[in-house]
Amino acid sequence: MTLEPGLYVAATPIGNLGDVTYRVVEALKAADLILCEDTRHTARLCAAYGVETRRAPYHEHNAEEVRPAILAKLLEGASICLVSDAGTPLISDPGYKLVREARDAGVKIIPLPGPSALVAGLSASGAPTDRFLFAGFPPAKAGARKNFFRDLSGIEATLVFYEAPSRLADSLAAMAAALGDRQACVAREITKLHEDFREESLSALAAHYAAHPPKGEIVVIIHPAGAVGETVDVDALLKEALHSMTLKDAAAAVAGASGLSRKDVYARALALKGRR
Ligand code: SAM
Repeated sequence: MTLEPGLYVAATPIGNLGDVTYRVVEALKAADLILCEDTRHTARLCAAYGVETRRAPYHEHNAEEVRPAILAKLLEGASICLVSDAGTPLISDPGYKLVREARDAGVKIIPLPGPSALVAGLSASGAPTDRFLFAGFPPAKAGARKNFFRDLSGIEATLVFYEAPSRLADSLAAMAAALGDRQACVAREITKLHEDFREESLSALAAHYAAHPPKGEIVVIIHPAGAVGETVDVDALLKEALHSMTLKDAAAAVAGASGLSRKDVYARALALKGRR
């Protein structure tokens, strides 16, 4: 098979290698070059499907340096596939400037659609899908994260984020405080062995993941305001947290998740424990 010259933006699996499309495999085999976020990572996909095309790195650390030579090859008529480690390139992954500059230079850009964690997570989450906003990774620092969620609080749509497991509980608590205690779904390890979708209020999810630190890759999907479960059920959160935390820690986690004062939540936790 010969490929028409151009830049092919090729989606690859987000876990299960069986999710690669027939068209992507054919294009990877026939291309002059595969640009990879990490060549070792893409080597596994290529080995599984007998792809022997030359691979070269294209990632945030070398993009500025190598882009002119890639554009020159494309203008000479090469067919080049761009892939990332997982899912669709450019979606919280490298490639935007390459596509932009190649398009400006008159190069044909051909999408090869396939997996993306945000669509996979959203599609199975049970959240409304008619209007959604994907906001990528929230900032890591607490102050910036608070402003980031606050800026999204007026948007009448399902919100979708990526998040690292180490930050999930704090991030969910910050979402609850800024957006209100909306219904949400944490989609973990989609298409992999330990795939898990957990749907509860944001504060309940924050308490759960504070008590049970998660592993793996995560998409958070939040229902629009007013969709389901807007009120914080402090008692339910405390009961869940008290299974695995001291009274003091449970009160702190639920206070963080609900936006209520630590003192009030502590008093409620004491009452639930029957200590007064
Ligand atoms: N381009 C990718 C896509 O289209 O989904 C996303 C790349 S971004 C650097 C990686 C993030 O995507 C992970 O930290 C996680 O939030 C999310 N992600 C990727 N694979 C996932 C999976 N199998 N399950 C849940 N989330 C996943």
